[in-house]
Amino acid sequence: MAVKVCKFGGTSMADGTVMNQVKKIIEGDKDRRYIVVSAPGKRYSGDIKITDVLYECHKEVKESGSCGAAFALIRNRFTSIIKELNIDFDINAVLDETEARINAEKSEDFTASRGEYLSARVMAEVLGAKFVDAEDVVFFDENGAYDAARSDRAINEALRGVDKAVFPGFYGKDVHGKVKTFSRGGSDISGAIVARAVNASVYENWTDVSGFLACDPHIVGSPRRIKALSYKELRELSYMGANVLHSESIFPVRKANIPIHIKNTFRPEDEGTLILPSIYYKPSGSIVTGIAGKKHFTVIFIEKSLMNSQIGFVRKVLSVLEEHNIPVEHIPSGIDTMSVVIESAALQDGKLGLVLSDIKAAVAPDTLRVTEDIALIATVGHGMSSSVGTSARLFKAMADAKINVKMIDQGSSELNIIVGVNDDDCDKCIAAIYREFFG
Ligand code: ADP
Ligand code: ASP
Ligand code: MG
Repeated sequence: MAVKVCKFGGTSMADGTVMNQVKKIIEGDKDRRYIVVSAPGKRYSGDIKITDVLYECHKEVKESGSCGAAFALIRNRFTSIIKELNIDFDINAVLDETEARINAEKSEDFTASRGEYLSARVMAEVLGAKFVDAEDVVFFDENGAYDAARSDRAINEALRGVDKAVFPGFYGKDVHGKVKTFSRGGSDISGAIVARAVNASVYENWTDVSGFLACDPHIVGSPRRIKALSYKELRELSYMGANVLHSESIFPVRKANIPIHIKNTFRPEDEGTLILPSIYYKPSGSIVTGIAGKKHFTVIFIEKSLMNSQIGFVRKVLSVLEEHNIPVEHIPSGIDTMSVVIESAALQDGKLGLVLSDIKAAVAPDTLRVTEDIALIATVGHGMSSSVGTSARLFKAMADAKINVKMIDQGSSELNIIVGVNDDDCDKCIAAIYREFFG
């Protein structure tokens, strides 16, 4: 029998009414057996996400030893969810126990994970399904990476003879037995982990938009829906800011070639978007699949005559960054020049100054220049490699919109063209490229 794993995001857990809609979706297909949920998200614009409140709880615990005021918001939200659902479930007992454990553990990850824990407890009750705690079945290894073999075994063990189960997303347990979360948006990864463990026929990711759109709907009104994209395209777009799906979601399902289907909880009849491994993916014929952008990068520009003939020059620069434990995003280069693009957050607290003086000491550059507040915009599509003139169209669109290009990097995969612009031009640039390729 085919098994579908369904992950429901924050807006799908936001209140009792939506949770009942989720129940209807699950009960509408008997293959939808294993459910992964996020913490309750925003009910309306301006509302606050439960996970954000939990980070506040942790701050309170750090400052005063316990989480009174912020936890009251959590309590209110969950008691009103239970009221709306009109189910007989002693949520206060679960909340009391949760509050006590937050105060005792004093761990940021543990505290942040409780939104998922509580929504999974409630959803299991709503569905009459087994609750499987992620801390018992999702494991991290000694490097903090997810331990696939151990998690697969534990998940299958927990599901033996179980028809329907609900898992909290976003967290697991580390080698010291402590709860650890993925990065923000990480319930998407949890869904993929369960899908892989049970060898699901599909991983359905239910959210609040009708699929992966060609760009962020906050930037262009009603962008075109992408019918299908490849794992690789997803990776490029989500890494570069299309946060509808966490960029690491494909790793657990990749080996098993499990398709991901993005669906809209609020419009379940809409087709959605399929994210496919290369064995199933057929190019759509369009040149560009999607556009995404991310702000707040810093570019370190280095110039040195005869750089190309100096063996080890690039290595020396990169060694400096390695010593400071700073990840590098891109390294566009010329004959006597190279630039290193770094997420600005990694250069905070005086690190930028230290890096610059170490680069000076290591390679004695003729010029060393820093540009901050740079946004990177990725235009992604398998169709770009086979079509002539794509970059020309892209740069003309940017020029017509009077956007100054600060950096260019065309990935060697020919799957993407990345341009750097000022942070302030980011949205304008995405909109201009969108108009050029999607009309
Ligand atoms: P969930 O809580 O279901 O995980 P997220 O808020 O993480 O939902 O992701 C869905 C949101 O992603 C959408 O509401 C939309 O605003 C945003 N988004 C950004 N880029 C895109 C894109 N290219 N396609 C679709 N949605 C996008
Ligand atoms: N609740 C977590 C967050 O807000 C994880 C998730 O929603 O996927 O980041
Ligand atoms: Mg999400």
